[in-house]
Amino acid sequence: MRALVKPAAAPGLEIQEVPVPTAGAGEVLIKLEKTAICGTDLHIYQWDEWSQRTIEPPLILGHEFVGRIVDIGDGVRGYEQGQRVSAEGHVVCGVCRNCRAGKPHLCPHTEGIGVNRDGGFAEYVVVPATNLWPIPDEIPSELAAFFDPFGNAAHCALQFDLVGEDVLITGAGPIGIIAAGIAKHVGARHIVISDINDYRLDLAREMGATRTINVQREKLTDILDELDIDGFDVGMEMSGNPHAFRDMLTCMYHGGKVALLGLLPKDAGVNWDQVIFKGLEVHGIYGRRMYETWYKMTQMVLTGFPLEKALTHQIPIDDFETGFELMASGQCGKVVCDWTGEV
Ligand code: NAD
Ligand code: ZN
Repeated sequence: MRALVKPAAAPGLEIQEVPVPTAGAGEVLIKLEKTAICGTDLHIYQWDEWSQRTIEPPLILGHEFVGRIVDIGDGVRGYEQGQRVSAEGHVVCGVCRNCRAGKPHLCPHTEGIGVNRDGGFAEYVVVPATNLWPIPDEIPSELAAFFDPFGNAAHCALQFDLVGEDVLITGAGPIGIIAAGIAKHVGARHIVISDINDYRLDLAREMGATRTINVQREKLTDILDELDIDGFDVGMEMSGNPHAFRDMLTCMYHGGKVALLGLLPKDAGVNWDQVIFKGLEVHGIYGRRMYETWYKMTQMVLTGFPLEKALTHQIPIDDFETGFELMASGQCGKVVCDWTGEV
């Protein structure tokens, strides 16, 4: 089969011919229809510092995908051949305290599909049946392909009650854009989103943001006067930029709640006065809830959530270089690659 492979410890990726994997006990074999490019894939492509200490080549990338079950391993119940599925990208241990307490998203022993084991940038992928998420017929494959990052956005946005609240999102990457849409969908009041990229801020506005800010031209603190509010009730840090995080803390209302999704550098400073004297609640967000977030995402799309507004590019897999260039430029929302020949 053909697969997009990180062949060696160096920048770049290549399409290679590799053996089709086989489904072992408890696993299924999926024939891929679509695979979306994640920021993580871009890091691995570019071979940044994180990739160098995390990835062991050769590795097939890809953890945002959708396809159909073509083979079912021993002991798997509840799935059938031909069924269309996506999958949770974190394979958990199943035996630790958190897994057994029904909180597998907090498992300390997770393995990442397309990060620590071969992933879905291929014609076929094997995943544990416990990770599957069936996709209803009404949801097109190009949207189901990026339920994984939709899940990051949903997990973060649904962490705190947003109804009637004033929400600040820093970072209008694909996840920030979708989070702005979710805030609108569930009934937030002001939904302010910041970035340094006008293309992405426009996408966020179409998705539901009520005010966008390019922090290269405007100051976040000026928005409080404009909106006539003392501060934001809920913050979602989705840029990974320490300056954005610092500005967010400054703009929070007393008693506000902050969800941290963006990966901040280790040495990112925090003005603890902002957290302590305002009594802020700060919550780290990793992955998605298994599988309540997947349930909520599916039902939101089935009841009119406009996920398609976050999808800007669909390309044949052979054009993957174009997709990675788009991701590196930031002039895109989600970029979805096709394995079926339909695009
Ligand atoms: P992304 O890199 O596409 O988006 C980040 C956005 O932040 C970009 O559009 C960038 O222009 C913007 N930005 C940069 N500086 C800024 C500033 N000073 N103020 C405001 N915005 C600024 O990433 P994404 O795929 O949307 O993911 C968002 C973040 O979440 C990333 O840091 C990613 O690594 C992280 N992430 C975390 C998890 C998790 O489980 N915690 C999962 C997926 C992604
Ligand atoms: Zn576990």
